Amino acid sequence: MPFKQKKIILRLDPSYKRCPSCGEVNVLRRSRAKNFWESTLKFTGVYRMYRCRKCNWRGPLSNVVVTLESLKKIALFGLLLYFIYLLIGQVVKEFK
Ligand SMILES: [Zn+2]
Repeated sequence: MPFKQKKIILRLDPSYKRCPSCGEVNVLRRSRAKNFWESTLKFTGVYRMYRCRKCNWRGPLSNVVVTLESLKKIALFGLLLYFIYLLIGQVVKEFK
């Protein structure tokens, strides 16, 4: 394989995206989280609050692009967790 993708999830800066409201490019700026809901979104690291300098639109935008490769890895990880869960269940039974 000549090109190996190491990053599971690609992070993009939505500042270069079009404004969802007016469609203008390069007008989005990061905005501070103003309430609990927005802080929670920010905490997940997936969404951040943005504001449009042109039309004053404000809202959350995702800066994460989930690739097919990352979905496979997440599925594999979920399966692994499930096996660990089963294994722990087995061990707990034996010690009773
Ligand atoms: Zn706008």
